[in-house]
Amino acid sequence: MAQTSLQPARGTHDLIGEEFRRHHHVIETARRVSALYGFEEWATPIFEDTRVFSRGLGDTSDVVSKEMYSFEDRGGESITLRPEYTAGLCRALVSNGLVQANLPRKIFAAGPMFRYERPQKGRYRQFHQIDLEIMGAAEPLSDAEAIACGWHIQQELGIAQGTVLEINTLGDAASRDAYRAALVAYFTGHRDALSEDSRARLERNPLRIVDSKDPKDKPIVAGAPTIHDHLTTEASGFYDAVRRHLGRFGVPFRENPRIVRGLDYYSHTAFEFVTDRLGAQGTVMGGGRYNGLVEEMGGPFTPCVGWAAGVERLSLLIEAGGKTPPAPRVVAVIPVGDAAEATALDALQALRRAGVVAEIAYKGNLKRRMERANRIGARAAVIIGDEELAAGAAQLRDLDAGTQERVPLAELPARLG
Ligand code: ATP
Ligand code: MG
Repeated sequence: MAQTSLQPARGTHDLIGEEFRRHHHVIETARRVSALYGFEEWATPIFEDTRVFSRGLGDTSDVVSKEMYSFEDRGGESITLRPEYTAGLCRALVSNGLVQANLPRKIFAAGPMFRYERPQKGRYRQFHQIDLEIMGAAEPLSDAEAIACGWHIQQELGIAQGTVLEINTLGDAASRDAYRAALVAYFTGHRDALSEDSRARLERNPLRIVDSKDPKDKPIVAGAPTIHDHLTTEASGFYDAVRRHLGRFGVPFRENPRIVRGLDYYSHTAFEFVTDRLGAQGTVMGGGRYNGLVEEMGGPFTPCVGWAAGVERLSLLIEAGGKTPPAPRVVAVIPVGDAAEATALDALQALRRAGVVAEIAYKGNLKRRMERANRIGARAAVIIGDEELAAGAAQLRDLDAGTQERVPLAELPARLG
């Protein structure tokens, strides 16, 4: 006998029953709505060459510096379980020679991600994302359309009233250089009061301090300069256009100059859909413009914009106030006596081929089978005994209304469809 019962590994979870249905509903809804906007779905591998995610010393994000599941495989290659979709999709654009043809390319993707984090509600080590990318578009209209699609998905999920879109700009390279210098000057003045993590970032990437969730840093960050004092004319023109287009798409937003995003490769637009319904895990969807990533994968300069959203966090929002899709209700086909079994199986398959969810119990008398039908919440029972067999018919019992009538077998699919 096993000494201990095995549990899912820390930070992972099983999806069963209602939870699976909510999860699936999130992905299906995103797939359907993104298709309405002209996005095509891609799937890339769950693991990649580590260099796809870790691109030299420039990357100081938490994800790359401390959350990746990286290991050497048996051939000595460094492999990483993907912590995000964007880098793999950019790699795929380049590896498949798609960097010239038919740009912009509008891509939807969904699947599991892996990050070594401290697990808590809404934060896991294996979690799932839906992801949207527009590759090869430099126009601010594409930023706004990506966001509008994300908002549309949340509306379809019935959770849009619980989230708020916050947007910011990170400017262009010139804006960021000026901002970086201003931040270094400001944070250096508060060095001793900063958290240890933030002191380390001061040298490497002071912009990330603005994103700190450490309570020690928050009052200091509140007084920090914002990028808006350092935007070039071009960068602020781009930001104006994004806001104007969002207005035309009818997407409400508020500006938050503190948004800098968790990954290092963003420029111009940065945004998050936030909620106060998930405790500390307040961000459900986040993204922005990243213009240099395809080049880092060995492709030509290809401006992109996109976002990712946590499926578990969206599911939690549905649980908290949206609508969970109900389990499909089954029709139970019940043969009474051995002679009816073959006919019952024919009737069962005819129903399934007509798109009716139908089941047959593997054993049991009429009473047992009726009990099971009720237990699984069947909407109807199709009962075939000797008399019905002779007449080419079945007793059709509506289990909600409690009514019963004889129906010719051939009419069952139409009656139940
Ligand atoms: P956070 O600040 O919550 O760590 P992040 O900035 O690391 O988020 P992104 O890399 O932008 O998150 O990922 C996009 C979305 O994926 C997040 O907004 C969130 O909904 C979801 N997400 C990220 N990390 C996790 C996780 N460990 N568990 C569950 N969902 C996650
Ligand atoms: Mg994170």
